[in-house]
Amino acid sequence: MSDTKQPKIIIAVDGFSSCGKSTFAKAIAARLGYIFIDTGAMYRAVTLFALEQGAIRSGIVHEDEVAALLDRIAITFRFNPERGASDIYVNGDLAEGKIRTIEVSNCVSRVSAIPEVRAKLVAMQQEMGRRKGVVMDGRDIGTVVFPDAEMKLFMTADPKVRARRRYDELRAKGDEVTLEEIERNVVERDKADMSRRVSPLRQAEDAIVLDNSRMTVDEQMEWFMARLAETKNAL
Ligand code: C5P
Repeated sequence: MSDTKQPKIIIAVDGFSSCGKSTFAKAIAARLGYIFIDTGAMYRAVTLFALEQGAIRSGIVHEDEVAALLDRIAITFRFNPERGASDIYVNGDLAEGKIRTIEVSNCVSRVSAIPEVRAKLVAMQQEMGRRKGVVMDGRDIGTVVFPDAEMKLFMTADPKVRARRRYDELRAKGDEVTLEEIERNVVERDKADMSRRVSPLRQAEDAIVLDNSRMTVDEQMEWFMARLAETKNAL
């Protein structure tokens, strides 16, 4: 069902790692006929490129080298009807499957803390949302990318529930990961994302909190539609 008669707005979805932000943001976008933008995929794409180009060696992120690569990375999205979402491409190559490995997850928070990386990706994200009608998920969408977004959600869930979800997802894809390794990654990324100097993860003052530890996507959608109606009435 597309909401074509209503003026389009920006919906910012921020929150902790692996709480289902992308799944939920994608469902909201499909419901409203909006564009879904996964900004985490963009930070992951830069990380993948930095790994491939040798700017991350033995787990060490060489910040200056990563920053120097930025002019050589073109990140684009192309809609994939099978997934109902856009796939990410790095310099024309499909990167979707390669950006969600544990290797990328272990380095991405250090790459995303580099000021030059954030400046480039935030500018791209602002351009993508210029015409509104977008649901954008990330860590700093409601605070930095679109501080004036009409609707801001902040998602959270029990870290154990989050790790279990990510673990099930990776195992289903055939990745040989352990639950402990995923739990460690989830907790460490949250810590790094909250404590970095540039655009740390924090809840915007005007964000609505959604703890989905014990909610299905359908229940979250019902909750969201009620909040959306309230938000639109207040506009
Ligand atoms: O959302 P996802 O878990 O794929 O994001 C991967 C990482 O990218 C996060 O842990 C965070 O370090 C970074 N990120 C960010 N700002 C965003 C989106 C993601 O710093 N807006």
